[in-house]
Amino acid sequence: MADTIFDKIIRREIPADIVYEDEELLAFRDVNPQAPVHVLFIPKKPIATLNDATAEDAALLGRLLLAAADYARREGFADQGYRTVVNCNEYGGQTVFHLHLHLLAGRHMHWPPG
Ligand code: C5P
Repeated sequence: MADTIFDKIIRREIPADIVYEDEELLAFRDVNPQAPVHVLFIPKKPIATLNDATAEDAALLGRLLLAAADYARREGFADQGYRTVVNCNEYGGQTVFHLHLHLLAGRHMHWPPG
């Protein structure tokens, strides 16, 4: 898989506002926030898109979701609510080809998304 800007963030080659890290995951604020809270949760393992995840990655994907929910609880907006999004490929609007989970909060979300 090609090196992406997120790999550079993981390696601390470019700065990011990191809000969470463990052995397998990293979370940082989106540079172009679409809501008052907009954090990206990424696996350190380079998986390009959701299509490239395998059964071997099931626990990792679960941890990604749980890390987002834990963050929402810690930051005090879990009960108010939030949205998680994984964009995949062109029609999904994916622009960085390192799997990531968007966590958006702090405003009322609309449905259907644009
Ligand atoms: O789902 P998608 O691939 O479009 O999301 C990529 C996200 O990464 C964008 O929301 C963009 O603002 C964010 N980004 C970032 N820091 C960078 C490059 C992109 O937060 N250095």
